[in-house]
Amino acid sequence: MPLQKCELCSSQPLREVAVSRWVNDPSDVERLTIEICAKHYQRLNKSGTKGVKQRGYYYRIGFW
Ligand SMILES: [Zn+2]
Repeated sequence: MPLQKCELCSSQPLREVAVSRWVNDPSDVERLTIEICAKHYQRLNKSGTKGVKQRGYYYRIGFW
């Protein structure tokens, strides 16, 4: 089994999630699919459209 890590930390990922990612402008997003851990999944779920800042990027769940 390949070693996988959460995209946002070094924990074991919970699942693959479609996210939107941006730097400054939330209307200018990059859409990608990342593996994230349970902790970050919860954090993203809670933050909704505001997103979660991590390593210079904001992330939110979904492609809209
Ligand atoms: Zn994580």
